[in-house]
Amino acid sequence: MSAAVGTAAEPTVGELLRRGEAGLQGGDSPRLDAEVLLAGARRCSRAALFRDRDEAPGAAVADVFLRWVAERARGVPVAYLLGRREFWSLGLEVTPATLIPRPETELLVERVLELMPFGASTRVADLGTGSGAIAIAIASERPSAAVVATDRCEAALAVAVRNAARLGVRNVTFRRGDWFEPLAGGSVDVIVSNPPYVVAGDPRLEEGDLRFEPPSALVGGRTGLEAIGLLVRNGYSHLTPGGCLALEHGQDQGAAVRGLFIAAGYGGVVTYRDLAGRERATLGRRGRSDG
Ligand code: GLN
Repeated sequence: MSAAVGTAAEPTVGELLRRGEAGLQGGDSPRLDAEVLLAGARRCSRAALFRDRDEAPGAAVADVFLRWVAERARGVPVAYLLGRREFWSLGLEVTPATLIPRPETELLVERVLELMPFGASTRVADLGTGSGAIAIAIASERPSAAVVATDRCEAALAVAVRNAARLGVRNVTFRRGDWFEPLAGGSVDVIVSNPPYVVAGDPRLEEGDLRFEPPSALVGGRTGLEAIGLLVRNGYSHLTPGGCLALEHGQDQGAAVRGLFIAAGYGGVVTYRDLAGRERATLGRRGRSDG
């Protein structure tokens, strides 16, 4: 084992962390980001950084780390630098072609899973799948379900395909196309989506990670409800009787989204709140006798 002692040319783990932290002072979490990035560059746990703080990880690791620190200092999301984000305990590849999966989207997955008896051959469509987060999480929890995941962005779909393959999730098929187009008129038992719903021009788009994420995955038009409206209106005829549409939305969009569901004829319309008490996901059903 080469526990190389640090030299001027080859800084130690401890020294790299100090430099990283100093370079990230403008951000929200300089120390944490430095640790996560160095652990990523070194392919080790954060705990191992403390154990090995007097070791020199080598020039290649130091170069990658210091380049990432510079990128992070100009705002590039940690998830894009690492090419990785955890969602539903699954390590997902993410790229700038995909939205970075958020913890609040796990709420949507939880609610959908409640509708899917274990062992049933439920048919599910995840529209605008991005990295595949929702589709892969659902499919991994319900191996007997058949999940179709669609995206119109080829680069995003390629990431989703790689995620499913790497995680050994076999019951998702991926189809390229706009919203319902890849379903080719077919119907499913559950339609789920985390569509773009940020209002165009929202100042949040100029802050934090959102600056680097694909606008097509974030911006839901002038009102923020354009994509949601389309999914609600066109979803009904793509659901089997009794089937469910489940959508994520912004925390201030609950009432408007429920209104869209009700206007489109859905029953049992209900909105769920996240752990912070914010309305984040709305579900509605196609009538059972509405064949
Ligand atoms: N949850 C993201 C945000 O508001 C938006 C994601 C989306 O539009 N689907 O930060």
